[in-house]
Amino acid sequence: MRTIWVFGDQLNRDIGALATADPRHDRVLLVESTAKLTSKRWHVQRAHLVMASMRRFAAELEQAGFEVDHRRSDSLETGHRDHIAQFRPDEVVATEPASWDGHRLLERCGVEVTRSNQFLCHYDEFAEWADGRRTLKMEDFYRWQRTRLGYLMEPDGITPVTGHWNYDHENREPPPRGETPWTSPPVSRLDTLDRQVLADLAELGDSSWGAPPDGTWATSRRAALARLRHFVEHSLPIFGPHEDAMTERSWHLAHSVLSPYLNIGLLLPGEVCDAVQDAYEAGNVPIASAEGFIRQVIGWREYVWGVYWRWMPEYRSANELQATRPLLPVFTGSGTEMRCVSACLDGVHDRAYNHHIQRLMVLGNLALLTGVDPWEMTEWMWSSFIDGAEWVMLPNVIGMSLHADGGRMATKPYAAGGNYIDTMSDHCRDCRFDRKQRTGDDACPFTTLYWDFLARHHDRFVKNPRMARQVRAAERLGDLEAVRERAAEVLERLDRGDL
Ligand SMILES: Cc1cc2nc3c(=O)[nH]c(=O)nc-3n(C[C@H](O)[C@H](O)[C@H](O)COP(=O)(O)OP(=O)(O)OC[C@H]3O[C@@H](n4cnc5c(N)ncnc54)[C@H](O)[C@@H]3O)c2cc1C
Ligand code: SF4
Repeated sequence: MRTIWVFGDQLNRDIGALATADPRHDRVLLVESTAKLTSKRWHVQRAHLVMASMRRFAAELEQAGFEVDHRRSDSLETGHRDHIAQFRPDEVVATEPASWDGHRLLERCGVEVTRSNQFLCHYDEFAEWADGRRTLKMEDFYRWQRTRLGYLMEPDGITPVTGHWNYDHENREPPPRGETPWTSPPVSRLDTLDRQVLADLAELGDSSWGAPPDGTWATSRRAALARLRHFVEHSLPIFGPHEDAMTERSWHLAHSVLSPYLNIGLLLPGEVCDAVQDAYEAGNVPIASAEGFIRQVIGWREYVWGVYWRWMPEYRSANELQATRPLLPVFTGSGTEMRCVSACLDGVHDRAYNHHIQRLMVLGNLALLTGVDPWEMTEWMWSSFIDGAEWVMLPNVIGMSLHADGGRMATKPYAAGGNYIDTMSDHCRDCRFDRKQRTGDDACPFTTLYWDFLARHHDRFVKNPRMARQVRAAERLGDLEAVRERAAEVLERLDRGDL
């Protein structure tokens, strides 16, 4: 018998080695590693998602006739070793793992690796696209992906439907006033398996945090497919316009909230994009929404996957802005009067989820402006979000959010003051701070820190054509000295967890 070793983020019969598996010749190994479960202070909903999904997947495989060795071990390595000792397989194979360390682990264990089809662009195909290019622009990659994959293309294969590639300009509306148009995703009922997972997690000690699972997150393929159908029917038609908006009246807006399932294999990117394309072709979805969503999946998601493999392992330690501040206490529960930050952190606590603009323009922006150490921020987000994984965290946190890679991924830092947050959200209205003030006790910390950031990094960004105007504006501020004094006070209070 051959053993197929399946990792906790490969939970799909159609992925890699499992796609051709046959219960008559193949057995499946799944390892729950105590070392992994205790390696970070995981949000309990994240730990539950992975463990419950693994257990349900193991049961599905058994129902399909496979012998499954689903074991708890001190580490993945010992799980593999103990499996060999007990079952003596002729061979152990695994699908290419999604992390740099996973590859090293399989090499050490002498496991045969088969090619992964979990992404639409394998990293060697990405390398072919990237080789010889001076800069790796997401927009170029996205158009290349659209053309090769054929999503939203005219029959000639080279022209985008409607003649346009990009609808970003239509997709930047602030939150609507009045009634919210978004329907909530389905909720699953917790069962005995969920309760057992939570009991097992509790036995590991008290390291996890956050609100316990409430059924927001699906832990089986069947339930994940139901979430996909719900999204396509109810949210996709209005996905575009408020893609960048934030509101205290909805935690999800029209976002798909499908990332956790895509990242652990319960859904595959191709089937998600096919469903979106079908809905567009049936006339149920405007092009700006269909294109906006497909861009996220075949563009951004596959792009960060590609750059992760291209730039690892050095990428992990990138810190071009020399940011060395320890993680701010606000991220670990000190509480804050900054209404936007507090709303995002409530979302992380309650569901282990924030949508993109909250991650980038509130939490990431705060870490960027205050100079939090990139690896500390990565670790915090990785352990806090329902969809965290190293391949997706590093480019998004180190590259896009903290500009720690010096602009390899994003040509300018996503730094913003209170004005931006006010335009795109309803947080500022009832905040104790005033987003227009940059000095004084009521000054919005984002506004103060934004100008301080531009002044602090003057020499670097004044040469950047996309930043020079703002840097020059900071230079000309009549009260720059007072702004910098207030910034020092804000930073000191944030360090104490007292703002
Ligand atoms: C600082 C920061 C940290 C992030 N951390 C993660 C993470 O740990 N895991 C994760 O999957 N995404 C991460 N993202 C990307 C993005 O914010 C999430 O994928 C998205 O918010 C998930 O919610 P959704 O499924 O409702 O997304 P939607 O808005 O519905 O988008 C559809 C899908 O597009 C994909 N997508 C969109 N943007 C990105 C992107 N930049 N990178 C990768 N995939 C993308 C996701 O799979 C997502 O499900 C991060 C972004 C930032 C700025
Ligand atoms: S005023 Fe500043 S701190 Fe308050 S919600 Fe607006 S941006 Fe956030």
